[in-house]
This record gives sequence, structure tokens and C-alpha cells, in this order.
Amino acid sequence: MNKKVRKAVIAGNWKMNKTPAEAKVLVEEMAPLVKGADCGVVVCVPYVDLCTVLDAVKGTNIEVGAENCHWEKSGAYTGEISADMLVSMGVQYVIIGHSERRTYFGDTDVTVQKRVRAALDAGLTVILCVGEYLEQREQGITDELVAMQTKIALGGVSKQELSKIIIAYEPVWAIGTGKTATAEQANEVCSVIRGVVAGLYDNAAADALTIQYGGSMNAKNAEELLDQPDVDGGLIGGASLKAADFSVIVKAASR
Ligand code: PEP
Repeated sequence: MNKKVRKAVIAGNWKMNKTPAEAKVLVEEMAPLVKGADCGVVVCVPYVDLCTVLDAVKGTNIEVGAENCHWEKSGAYTGEISADMLVSMGVQYVIIGHSERRTYFGDTDVTVQKRVRAALDAGLTVILCVGEYLEQREQGITDELVAMQTKIALGGVSKQELSKIIIAYEPVWAIGTGKTATAEQANEVCSVIRGVVAGLYDNAAADALTIQYGGSMNAKNAEELLDQPDVDGGLIGGASLKAADFSVIVKAASR
């Protein structure tokens, strides 16, 4: 498998942080620091920040994503946002299946699959999150679990559509906890995911797929994680809220 054929992507996941006014300040601080990066730079922000951030990134190399979308196009789904609505604003990416959505908001492998379908149909690039809880790692079922999450989410996704999918391996025990997976652990599971994709499609499709690691990646550990052969980027929570830290990670991915 050849890392050089893949695009590295560093994506920030702001979660439920930053008002529109704060978002503008953060993006304006970030833009000069990540200018000219040799990797994709994406910020996934709360719905209410999208308008402001889309405006603030004009003329920069920063792309914008949402943190979720509903699977229906429109209708009686109070409080939800459709993929078409996001696209109509100019949003290009959407995170789907983040563990916080699965844990706190009832997202399942089945609803994740439906959201992936809707996002692809609308033309969004999907950052699909998979990952195990600590109990599952301790049980020794990480590989099986992540393989199953990947297979279900990609059910019905064609080989051609795979170019609009990024998979983020995010061990749940490492998210927001300061506990990072070791570089070897991260690479091992990213490599399992690539193998699953090779089995579902073919080696060329797997070789071309961007697979990120996410889970307490920060300015200090990014280089070692991103140096791994199957880790093509990062989904960054906490450290994406600090322009300087985020830019160090972007630089590590640009080498
Ligand atoms: C995330 O929210 O996807 C994430 C990886 O968070 P953190 O970097 O804070 O662990």
C-alpha cells in the first residue's frame, strides 16, 4: 500500500464550541497559519457557525464541514438539517457516525449508513467515524467491531463513490481524554480498515482511501501518528480549537 497516492487531510471537529463571532476570530487566526499546506485542511463546525465560517474562509485553503446531517431530504424532522441544505450553503464535508453521536444521540450503524447515503447523494464528502470502546479493545474485538462498522456504513456505496469518503478511526477511549492510541495501535487499526475496504472493493480503491486517526491528537504527538504508513491524516477535536496547535498538526501532515 502506497501512502504517496493518498491525500492527507487534517479536519477539525469543533463539537459544540464557538459562537459565530468566536468562530470568525478562530478561522481568521488559523488561515495565515495553514496557508499553502500540502494537505487538505477542513474545519467541521456547529450548524450555527456555518454561514460565518464559509464567509471567513473565502480565498483561503480551508474547507468547511458540518458535524452531522439527517438522512431525509426534508420533512417533519424538527431540529434536523438535511445534506441538501448543507450543500446549498456551500458546505463540502460532513462528519458522520462520530462516537458522541452514537453514544449520546442514538446513532446506530444503520442510521450511519442512511446518513452516508444521503450525504453522498447530495454531493458531500463524508468523514465516516468508526472506533471501539475501551471494553471492546480489552475484549480483543477491536478489529472485528471496526470492520463491521465500516462494512455496514459502506453498504450500498459504489467504488466510484468511495472517492468522496474519508474514514476516521477514532478509538472512543482516546477521544477528549488525553489518552492517545500509540502510533502502532493507530496504524494497526487503520490498516485493518484498509484491508476491509480492499475486500469490499479492490486494492486500488483501498490504496486511494484517506484514513485518518482521531483521539487526542495534538501538536506534540501528531508527527509520530502521521508518520505511520496507514495514517493519512487526523480528525482533531480539542486541538482544533487553538489555531497554533491545529497549524502544527497541519504542518506535520504536509511533510
Ligand atoms: C474528535 O472529537 O473527533 C476527537 C478526536 O476529539 P479529541 O481530539 O479532543 O480527542
